[in-house]
Amino acid sequence: MQELQNYIESSQKVVIIPHKNPDGDALGSCLGWQIFLTKLGKETTVVSPNDYPKFLKWMPQQEHIINAEATPDQASALIGDADLIFCLDFNDLGRIDDLGELVQSSSASVVMIDHHENPKDFADLMISKPEMGSTSEMIYDCIMAIDSSLLDPAMASCLYTGIMTDTGSFRFPSTTPATHRAVATLMEAGAVHSEIHQNIYDSYTFDRLRLLGIALSNMKKLETLPVVYIHLSADELESVNYQKGYTEGFVNYGLRLVGIQLAVIMIDHPQEGKVKMSFRSKGNFPAHHFAAAHFNGGGHLNAAGGVSFDSLEKTVETFLHAIENFAHDFS
Ligand code: 5GP
Ligand code: MN
Repeated sequence: MQELQNYIESSQKVVIIPHKNPDGDALGSCLGWQIFLTKLGKETTVVSPNDYPKFLKWMPQQEHIINAEATPDQASALIGDADLIFCLDFNDLGRIDDLGELVQSSSASVVMIDHHENPKDFADLMISKPEMGSTSEMIYDCIMAIDSSLLDPAMASCLYTGIMTDTGSFRFPSTTPATHRAVATLMEAGAVHSEIHQNIYDSYTFDRLRLLGIALSNMKKLETLPVVYIHLSADELESVNYQKGYTEGFVNYGLRLVGIQLAVIMIDHPQEGKVKMSFRSKGNFPAHHFAAAHFNGGGHLNAAGGVSFDSLEKTVETFLHAIENFAHDFS
């Protein structure tokens, strides 16, 4: 914490970067931290590798985020000028695409604050806590340690959002008494939990709910293993005018089935040349190891992601073979 404070005190131009396709925790931690550092008198900008879903576009200060995909020159100038760069909610420069090279070649100090396993050694200061449920809770701890009097409603809303989304609304095993204490303090500081919940979860368009219907009717259950999987084709996405973020959370539905230990979703994005995969598990099934071993991915024990560069059909086939290799990991 002292080292972190030294980095902050000795810098003026700060850039904060979330991972690509930022989720509630990535944006919540970045925006909460930005508001805090701005209050400390720092010139602070959040630079996102790309765009993010509509259901996050109400978050305080999100309108000032620089989208590196839309305005690469601006993003590269900011990173080039920075004297301090924060990498939040990721631990591998591969998770921020082209920004990775800019961070590496920048003369700025780099601080990583993250809760994923197996951090890569690219930062000057690495705060890595895989046992934490969210990066936003880590940022909360940093703010409380540095100057808790600066906590305000905007910061509180951002951090609440990140903690809520990454703990599955406080139900994943990573949720601790400290998480609930943090959330209580954030509510006292002005986070309106019911509004935040509504903004994130009750903001479906009709098309998005129809896509959930398609996903659920596509769900298949394995005969011999406690596994369900969903696939969504490009045509199916197109039939509901797919937009970024539409499939967020769909994978979790599989775990509502009694006895199921692994739920998988495979979503075809042929224009990007890939099938995006998400894995969610219950108990000890290592979703992150499975994602890393077979689908160029990673994440956490119970929530991981990955990617396949084959067709959707071939990806399903590969998955069905791969899961047999992990049969002994089910309890
Ligand atoms: P999601 O399924 O929501 O995309 O991701 C679930 C978790 O896995 C998140 O913690 C995310 O950071 C991680 N994750 C998702 N995609 C990838 C990936 O391609 N590589 C790695 N290493 N982690 C991923
Ligand atoms: Mn996270």
